[in-house]
Amino acid sequence: MSEEPEIPVAALGETAAEGATQVESNAAADPAKEGTDSELRGQTEATAHPTGRGAAFAAALIEWHAREGRHDLPWQKDRTPYRVWVSEIMLQQTQVTTVIPYYQRFMAQFPTIRALADAPIDDVLHFWSGLGYYARARNMHRTACLIRNEYRGEFPRTFGKIANLPGIGRSTAGAILALSRGERYPILDGNVKRVLARFFGVAGVTTERAVSERLWKLSEECTPHSQVDVYTQAIMDLGATVCARRKPVCAYCPLAAGCFARHTGRQHDFPTPRKAKGARRLREVFMLVAMKEDGSVLLERRPDTGIWGGLWCLPEFDTASAASVYVGQTLRAADAQPKPMAIVEHAFTHFDLSITPLLTNCAGAAKGVMDSIPTVWYNARDPARIGLPAPIKTLLDNLTSPTMFDAPGAQ
Ligand code: SF4
Repeated sequence: MSEEPEIPVAALGETAAEGATQVESNAAADPAKEGTDSELRGQTEATAHPTGRGAAFAAALIEWHAREGRHDLPWQKDRTPYRVWVSEIMLQQTQVTTVIPYYQRFMAQFPTIRALADAPIDDVLHFWSGLGYYARARNMHRTACLIRNEYRGEFPRTFGKIANLPGIGRSTAGAILALSRGERYPILDGNVKRVLARFFGVAGVTTERAVSERLWKLSEECTPHSQVDVYTQAIMDLGATVCARRKPVCAYCPLAAGCFARHTGRQHDFPTPRKAKGARRLREVFMLVAMKEDGSVLLERRPDTGIWGGLWCLPEFDTASAASVYVGQTLRAADAQPKPMAIVEHAFTHFDLSITPLLTNCAGAAKGVMDSIPTVWYNARDPARIGLPAPIKTLLDNLTSPTMFDAPGAQ
């Protein structure tokens, strides 16, 4: 990145301190779920002709993007609504470098909405395994089925219909239409919130309604009438690369001259950080590795709600003794004393999970696994295409390794 010449403050208008201590009250409901498409369009255009600071803001970003933006991401080629949609969902809470290989594999496997809709959910979760936040994948599959059934496999054309699809809200619907069709809709993902909050000095936690409405208004004000696709990509890129959460690189920012946070040295005050929720929780569980002679291991499908929803996982217990009871009474295995293996640790957003795997030998066919829970015997040497949580997949892969018995108490 080369250092940018600063654009004059006058070109960007005054730094927008009006949002720093006071946010406007706006009683309008979030239109993403409620308004008709014409209402939504009318509301957008009535409030947003980018003149003055909004126009200069957009122009600076578009000019910067031509020189410094990202132009070769896989979802930037052949920008159909479907391809943009998949990328936008994958990029939620996830960094670009992590998403790229997942996106490429996913699109190779499911090149069209119909291919995605026709695939079993286990296949979809298989190609999502390791990306986390699995509700995203389940919602995508539901949405693909809905589009196949109700829109003949074609992505709906109007904002209101898109925003009402499962897992798609106002910002994602706007990004799909702006990036794939060049239609003028504002977006407000996490990166855009940060850029706008810093530039205009909008104080307050962004999940608060009044703050969110203020940011939506600013986003509408800044969204240009031409090159909206370039602008949308530009503001997302700036938030991801220059106006980073921890270390914004203001010296390289095309908005630096007019930025309230930069001028006041308060970059880390915007957006207002949410209150810390206290110490992270540690959750300790036991998982049963019930293995047959051929190396296959019993897995259960987890419920759709909760962590790893819909994925296949080792049977989970709160205590080792509960696992022993299950081995003896449900599996009726001879070896009713499972042996602990090396602990597996995994970090979620709000808590840490500590898994003690308990290995048991299920020589001979295990009999009565519970009918109410779908189960499968999974063999890592000949793996079925199912969705597996990343730490469980690693554990199962390691079962084929000779070091698998290097665990306390294992023999
Ligand atoms: S000047 Fe700094 S804080 Fe302001 S928008 Fe640019 S990178 Fe963000």
